[in-house]
Amino acid sequence: MVRINENYLRLAPNYLFSEIAKRAKEFQAANPGAQLMRLGIGNTTEPLAPAVVRGLHEGVDRLARAETYTGYGDEQGDAALRERIAQVKYRDNRVDISPDEVFISDGAKPDTGNIQTIFAADAVVALQDPAYPVYVDTNVIAGRGGKLGEDGLFEDFVYMPCTEENGFIPDVPPRRPDLIYLCSPNNPTGAVASREQLARFVDYALTHDAVILFDAAYAPFIREPDLPRSIYEVPDARRCAIELNTFSKEAGFTGVRLGWTVVPKNMAVDAKNPRSLNELWNRRTTTFFNGASNVVQVGGLAALTPEGQAQNAAVIDLYLRNAATIREGLRAIGLTVYGGTNAPYVWVKCPDGLTSWQFFDKLLHEAHVITTPGAGFGPHGEGFLRLSAFGHPKDIARAVQSIEEKVKL
Ligand code: PLP
Repeated sequence: MVRINENYLRLAPNYLFSEIAKRAKEFQAANPGAQLMRLGIGNTTEPLAPAVVRGLHEGVDRLARAETYTGYGDEQGDAALRERIAQVKYRDNRVDISPDEVFISDGAKPDTGNIQTIFAADAVVALQDPAYPVYVDTNVIAGRGGKLGEDGLFEDFVYMPCTEENGFIPDVPPRRPDLIYLCSPNNPTGAVASREQLARFVDYALTHDAVILFDAAYAPFIREPDLPRSIYEVPDARRCAIELNTFSKEAGFTGVRLGWTVVPKNMAVDAKNPRSLNELWNRRTTTFFNGASNVVQVGGLAALTPEGQAQNAAVIDLYLRNAATIREGLRAIGLTVYGGTNAPYVWVKCPDGLTSWQFFDKLLHEAHVITTPGAGFGPHGEGFLRLSAFGHPKDIARAVQSIEEKVKL
């Protein structure tokens, strides 16, 4: 008999979004006249910027002519796009990253899942809790989680709880891990790490020979100039950190698919096998991946022109105004809210000791608004809801108004 990878059996049931859909459906069936409004989903809603659309068209047109047609490209990505990312995202910001340290992907989720494969099967993993579920699940599948405890925590992971007390940015891990996942601006809490907080993690990683896996998917939402948009803004981070990034939120590429991963060349980790991680990731990429779509990479180049960047920044401003609408509306009725100033997520404390699912149900039943229970992102998310600022402004305003007018606190 063929045996399966039994680590899949260890995964916590992934019922968050299916349970939300089920509850919404049941409510709708019982209340056919009610119009449901959504503040739950982390998916972009605004159309692509005109400069990007032109880039994508150009990508298609190139394929339509024999003189400009291209088939397979470099697995690591188009040289011009790697160069532009290194320039626009790093060097323009006085951060030293070269194009051959930038690997183009079809989005941050696949690379976030795949990056752990270059490390030892028994590497110890530290995670923020609550967290984007990919960090947890991919390491459970790789066999690094151990047993799932009654408390919803895997016994072999080192957890870094994100709580009201620490402003949802945890301190360095309580015991030494090999790998440290960090996400800033954070999904789901909307918290953003300061330069000093990141520097503490970089110091810790260098002192304890650990590697940081830094997810910067929401960096374009940072508007305060002093907050770091890349971990490489911390001196020496390039000796201990890999950065995962995406065009999904920056340019509305959630469905288009394009991202990048930075693996600096001078990171050598294993004393017995002193191989560079950049070489290993290159080997992994060329073996498992055949490159991002050539059409989409032309779109990515267009997104990083001054015109594309200005147009995309205007869309992010719109989402940030939505976030402000949510924050102000909920504060006005006495709720405690966090996040949403340099991030598209608002983290709302459930009132009166309600659990995440109880408050979710209350907002659904009283205001007809769908949100996301914080407990779905990990045990320390219990007692909170994640509200998303992705949506058309008038839909967001309508949902917030409904909460303000109808929810009895
Ligand atoms: N990282 C975080 C923290 C996310 O929230 C998401 C998507 O919601 C991703 C990565 C995935 O990005 P991509 O669309 O590039 O796969």
